[in-house]
Amino acid sequence: MTFSLHGIPVSKGIAIGKAVLISRAALEVSHYLVEPGKEKFEAQKLLDAFDQVRQELEQLRLGLPKDSPPEMAAFLDVHGMILADPALAEKPINLIRTQRLNAAWALTTELNDLLEQFSEIEDPYLKERANDIRQVAERVIKALNSQKKDTLENAALLSPSDVGVDSIIVAHDIAPHDMLRFKEHAFTGFVTDLGGKTSHTAIVARSMEIPAVVGVRHASEMIRHGDWLVLDGERGVVVIAPDEQLLAEYRKLQTQAIKEARKLQQLKHSRTATADGVDIELFANIELPEDANQAVALGAIGVGLFRSEFLFMDRKQAMPNEDQQYLEYRRVVDLMHGLPVNIRTIDVGADKALGAGFDGSQTGTSPLGLRAIRWSLTEPEIFLTQLRAILRASAYGQARIMIPMLAHAKEIDETFRLIEKAKQQLHQRGQAFNPNIQVGAMIEIPAAALVLPLFINRFDFLSIGTNDLIQYTLAIDRADNAVAHLYDPLHPAILLLLDSIISQAKRANVPIAVCGEMAGDPTLTKLLLALGLTDFSMHFSQLLLVKREILKANVGLLKARISRVLKAYEPEDQAKALERLFS
Ligand code: PEP
Ligand code: MG
Repeated sequence: MTFSLHGIPVSKGIAIGKAVLISRAALEVSHYLVEPGKEKFEAQKLLDAFDQVRQELEQLRLGLPKDSPPEMAAFLDVHGMILADPALAEKPINLIRTQRLNAAWALTTELNDLLEQFSEIEDPYLKERANDIRQVAERVIKALNSQKKDTLENAALLSPSDVGVDSIIVAHDIAPHDMLRFKEHAFTGFVTDLGGKTSHTAIVARSMEIPAVVGVRHASEMIRHGDWLVLDGERGVVVIAPDEQLLAEYRKLQTQAIKEARKLQQLKHSRTATADGVDIELFANIELPEDANQAVALGAIGVGLFRSEFLFMDRKQAMPNEDQQYLEYRRVVDLMHGLPVNIRTIDVGADKALGAGFDGSQTGTSPLGLRAIRWSLTEPEIFLTQLRAILRASAYGQARIMIPMLAHAKEIDETFRLIEKAKQQLHQRGQAFNPNIQVGAMIEIPAAALVLPLFINRFDFLSIGTNDLIQYTLAIDRADNAVAHLYDPLHPAILLLLDSIISQAKRANVPIAVCGEMAGDPTLTKLLLALGLTDFSMHFSQLLLVKREILKANVGLLKARISRVLKAYEPEDQAKALERLFS
């Protein structure tokens, strides 16, 4: 039966494919498709892992002290029995053979199904067995990981067309760094139960140019593995089991979108200026160094925001040391061939958790907690390491330091003290760096916007993080779908703040950009131009769409009409003023 679910559209495009349900447990493992012809080898890996766990359990059983409680032996017996049941390996092996899922993914998919079946059982004893099954499966996954063959590096990275059937991920929630791990994989869409429009997961989905709908409540309960889905990333709709007619309509839309995207490519090399001749600078936001390739190819004139924290969020790896970080920053600097690169210092916390390789002070999980520069200042050694790595990269191009979430003068003082210290350390070591490296601040806390002269006086450049500025001004968690309807970039308070920041910075001749998602939203381009913005930083996937709007705009006219928008507090007045502005 065809039915549809609705959520928050976060990454445009239409995906048609089969649902792949990913459980929380499954997110911890690698997901990839094994190369055609290697299915047998992959299945053998799974069987070897089963064998390894069987031996481990036997060893444990033999090693039990004589006086250990009888429950211990019984517990190991139950696990042994579960492992010996051929049914546990049968389905995953089938998934490896028919869908070419890697072994750990196939096993967690089966685990998911089993856990779901157990959740429907009333009998408390049998219900408890679900935990045993989970523990056994986790042991097998651990064994698979220890084989060291189950790494992404060894996986064949396939494009969707190689897969035969396109796959759409359906999950309760996906952490931003997990999302990034799907980057090279053959998925064509994402659906999650949770999330907001500017959650970092949504931002990463957009950067991958893959249609995504988040905040689709109960999607992961209502959609079954293997269901056919249509995902409309423009309207926020997920259609389950679409009929032929609907499929045909969406295929048509999909073809149209591809044609339009091709047409847009023609804008790549034209000058970025408004219809009345005002030059506009378009920068790219990136999460991974290699994204710089795309940024350059699409005509970005620099990286306006490199979210460096993605180097620190990998679950599996240790925290990168100075040399490793330097190489990553250097890579971006080299790829940008002398164009500016704003390396934003680590912004972990809230919805971005630190990777497992770190054992110091933990970040806050609340957006109001120990996040971004606040955390960096509590971990000066880590901060200094990052600063030295950025400074070393600055010897080879225009690397610049950008600090997130500043609000207090004392935070600014401490930040500059540590930048100076990092410079001294490099000097003592005799290592090259640009002593005049530019340092910029993100304006993303209302307090910073309200005391802008403090920032204007102390920094070389400023960049408005509208994602957080909106979150903190309107007091709504940007990752919480329950309040997503209140996340409003057009709230008069936001427009007044933007106007105030941009006009003050312009008057003082301090470069000012917007690097939050507002900059990449083509429906807001004219509004930002009207506010006097000339530097936009966005995901490269949005660059040409925004450029198309810029080419059509007349800034003179827009500026003449903005004051009415800024004076409109009533929604109807604002709608009218905006209509006039956009006309
Ligand atoms: C912002 O807050 O607008 C921003 C660009 O930073 P992030 O989205 O990484 O918090
Ligand atoms: Mg931010």
